[in-house]
Amino acid sequence: MSTADVDQLDDGPLGRLALSRSGVDRATLRRGDTDWLARAWADPRTRVLVVRDAQALVATRDGQLELVLVPPDEAPAGTRFLLGVDDEDVAYFGVSAPADSTADSTAGGAAGGPAEHDARLMALRQVGALLSDRDAGLMTHAVALAYWHDSHTHCPQCGTPTVPAPAGHLTTCPADGSEHFPRLDPAVIMLVIDPDGRLMLARNATWPPGRMSVVAGFVEPGESAEHAVAREVYEETAIVVGQVRYLGSQPWPMPRSLMLGYQATAKGGQRIAVDDEEIGEARWFTRQELRAAIDAGELGIAPTSSIARRLIEYWYGAELPDGPAGWLNRGR
Ligand SMILES: [Zn+2]
Repeated sequence: MSTADVDQLDDGPLGRLALSRSGVDRATLRRGDTDWLARAWADPRTRVLVVRDAQALVATRDGQLELVLVPPDEAPAGTRFLLGVDDEDVAYFGVSAPADSTADSTAGGAAGGPAEHDARLMALRQVGALLSDRDAGLMTHAVALAYWHDSHTHCPQCGTPTVPAPAGHLTTCPADGSEHFPRLDPAVIMLVIDPDGRLMLARNATWPPGRMSVVAGFVEPGESAEHAVAREVYEETAIVVGQVRYLGSQPWPMPRSLMLGYQATAKGGQRIAVDDEEIGEARWFTRQELRAAIDAGELGIAPTSSIARRLIEYWYGAELPDGPAGWLNRGR
């Protein structure tokens, strides 16, 4: 493991977030080494994570959810990218395969032994918090790159189909030689706390009653993240915030967000006024009110893989139950 690995980092106020974990070195210096890449792909010890429609095959082994990884000769055709190398020098690749290629060809191959008869395609938001550090990191990385390759197939300058580099971390235009790198959309997501310590939760106008979360939005071009926090809170709830403090981040590649978590303190003497088009309702909760609403089945908060859930639990001071079943895997 290199000293630049995530394991060497101190956890911030939010602790280690589900999709911010890793168990392999990204091996960035190998990405330009075509001989090494060819040897790694030819090595039967190499493991490949196949991504279809942003999902990956997951199976239960000894009570633990695991990714189903296959050797290179069992991987389907598709765009290939290097994910990293582990402590035992095993290389990991991802392949973005067409959604209509049969999942059975992977599940029924060498990866589909008797212990993995329950293998099924699952999304990152469903399993991100349940996988090991290694598998959570591999799947987050692979889903992010698969989304990018699937949606950025042509040169933005001249429209010619681009060609992925051998490690899959950039594409090149054969007509004009321009290079194109994976895109990220930075988004801010924030605890908004009033002077009495209450937390604001809001319901998106498109969400069903009983589902609420913290306010979030994309950073606009030419804007700082802190400014985006203040702007989004005001746009959605007419609340003016003063202090804005950074808490932590995690990738959310559905399709390409980087979620930047903040705590913002509302100035006193204000009333919430929601923008009805985007926000259906917003209100302040004390810790006791939040817990009572969840326990009564009236309120559901975000899934455990999300930074929204971790932010709410950071404010609350402990883990919280899921609330009403059924909405956790809906939406983004
Ligand atoms: Zn071009």
